[in-house]
Amino acid sequence: MNPVTGESIASHAITSKEEVDAAVASAREVFRFWQAMDFKGRKKALLKWNSYLLENIDELVEIVSLETGKPTSDATLEASLAFSHLGWAARHAEEVMRTSYRSPGALMANMSATVERSPVGVVGVIGPWNYPVFTPMGSISYALAAGNTVVFKPSEYTPAVGKFLADSFLEATGLSDVFICVTGLGETGKFLCESGVNKLAFTGSTATAKRVAATCALTMTPVVLECGGKDPVIVDRDANLKKAADATIWSSMSNAGQTCIGAERVYVHEDVADAFIEHCLRIAAEIKPGAPGVGNYGPATMPKQIAIIEGHIKDAIAKGGKVLLGGISSVRAPFVYPVIIADVPEDSTAITEETFGPTLVINRVANMQEAIALTNASRYGLGASVWSKRNGKKIARALDCGMVAINSVISFAAVASVPFGGVKDSGYGRIHGPEGILEFTYARSVVRTRFHLPIAFTSFSRTAGNDKLIVRLNKILKGRLG
Ligand code: NDP
Repeated sequence: MNPVTGESIASHAITSKEEVDAAVASAREVFRFWQAMDFKGRKKALLKWNSYLLENIDELVEIVSLETGKPTSDATLEASLAFSHLGWAARHAEEVMRTSYRSPGALMANMSATVERSPVGVVGVIGPWNYPVFTPMGSISYALAAGNTVVFKPSEYTPAVGKFLADSFLEATGLSDVFICVTGLGETGKFLCESGVNKLAFTGSTATAKRVAATCALTMTPVVLECGGKDPVIVDRDANLKKAADATIWSSMSNAGQTCIGAERVYVHEDVADAFIEHCLRIAAEIKPGAPGVGNYGPATMPKQIAIIEGHIKDAIAKGGKVLLGGISSVRAPFVYPVIIADVPEDSTAITEETFGPTLVINRVANMQEAIALTNASRYGLGASVWSKRNGKKIARALDCGMVAINSVISFAAVASVPFGGVKDSGYGRIHGPEGILEFTYARSVVRTRFHLPIAFTSFSRTAGNDKLIVRLNKILKGRLG
């Protein structure tokens, strides 16, 4: 459905349980083949796919823009970033998964000890609609590069994007069943959780993540959960206010505020709050939503989000927040015009819940300790942005969250070598970077006998003297026997 016009664009299948199971079985059948292609073969195939995607980026961007309503320039940026992650994963999987050699310790000095990394098998990926290329590709690229095959269930709002990704893989590489897309509603996602995949990578809301984790627990399917956030921007008194305001407004309003790592609340030092707010208002006043090609950002992709956004604005005002820009009248479905509210009590849903709209709360703090405490009081802990010339690293270190951008916003998402993910209700596990590759592998310890010792510890022929020897050795080595 086109969220700008409400018109139907195309029809896609609702994949049944049997069909999901069959897709997983097909992906399992080719898993050994894909694994046996080894790093070099997989790298070649994935880079071919990357080139194909780059050549056909306009077609993909058109689909993203149609299904989400976002401007094509935003869709282009999103797709480009996703492709850079694919390239990074393809090029670095071998080095990240290289067998590591470990010290066998004094007691086992006759052994060589190694840790190998093995792909888990078939990875199920469930994705959201807000960044329908970038977010699922953060799991798909890294899982494939590690040697797994993938079955992907896209959001029901962006099925054609999911299909395009899987079809393009087949088109570029000629390899069937390595990467399969199954379209459908939430229930199809549930079927994927129940299908016996070897790992499930989920990106979406915290509420659904809990359901996914509960379903996966029944089959001991491990999960990586990338969920929502309530990301803060912390502005210290020595910050570059103009740059901080510009980046904050973009972070909170672009993509209609539907960014998991987008700015939702600001804690600004009271000494510079007025100046910061002035910059924010000047920038936000120039921004408006509209259809692709018309607005700076698009509609709320998911119609039911409108009521949540409206509810948060109402709650902030009812609890005493001062409206600086827009207000309830800014909500004109399917669009929401920019809203900025200051001095909002910390128990308002505009602070405690993910709004996912082009709204921003700006609260003043007496010092950075207060900003840190308020940031950490949230049940979420995804990303954060810190603006300070001198104290950026110190503030960043004190935050309970998975990612921090200092003097920038969301920059960590564009750096392929660093992991992406959160803590608390924002989820667990990591995509991107070496950690993102290792997430889709398991460690296999291999300990090999290089020569046999005269004392056989793992034998019924072990004597009391042997036991005494171990204790004595342990005492001499002060517990460093292992
Ligand atoms: P949802 O949680 O509504 O849906 C996510 C996916 O799960 C969709 O594909 C959905 O299918 C599927 N699903 C729904 N019910 C089930 C179920 N019972 N079992 C398995 N799968 C199911 O999230 P949204 O699509 O609304 O995405 C927005 C959310 O994603 C926001 O909270 C945002 O913060 C978060 N997000 C997090 C990111 C991160 O990396 N941390 C990045 C981007 C977004 P269907 O659409 O068909 O219902």
